[in-house]
Amino acid sequence: MIAENKCLPGDVFCFNSNTKTITYVEEELEKNEGILALLHEIAHLKLGHYSYNYDVELLKLEHEAWDETRKMAMQYGIEVDEEHIAECLTSYDLWLEKRATCPKCGEYALQRNNNTFGCFVCDCYWKVNERKDREVRKKIINQIKQTGPEKIIIGFLFVCCSPFLG
Ligand SMILES: [Zn+2]
Ligand SMILES: [Zn+2]
Repeated sequence: MIAENKCLPGDVFCFNSNTKTITYVEEELEKNEGILALLHEIAHLKLGHYSYNYDVELLKLEHEAWDETRKMAMQYGIEVDEEHIAECLTSYDLWLEKRATCPKCGEYALQRNNNTFGCFVCDCYWKVNERKDREVRKKIINQIKQTGPEKIIIGFLFVCCSPFLG
């Protein structure tokens, strides 16, 4: 599988949709969990997960990737750890929740474009950092300047189950 796809050894399991490259942790492949993680990144590639606009779409892509991972695991006779999958999805959920929570009043807000959120309760707007393998940082801004068409994220990094997500 490593030979068939563009896979490179690295520090984390991730998929870069810009370069269509998968990074894997070599020593983790001795464990079942590591193989599952690799299958999961291959699933992103196989399903053509190259772009999205909103965080909720990202979560949908993660669910799809895990569904595909389950199928591939069955094909290759690899045990699926459902608890691990649930943990990964929860960590994404928490990350999304953090981004969407208003830094002023704590209400759940609406995402206005790929990195900007706006709160209906206190009229606060903020930008979030893009890296998924870093802690969520929010910067309060005056207003949303962008009024043109939505910016589409065409290159992004899936860092699945990163410890920073939780
Ligand atoms: Zn608010
Ligand atoms: Zn993923």
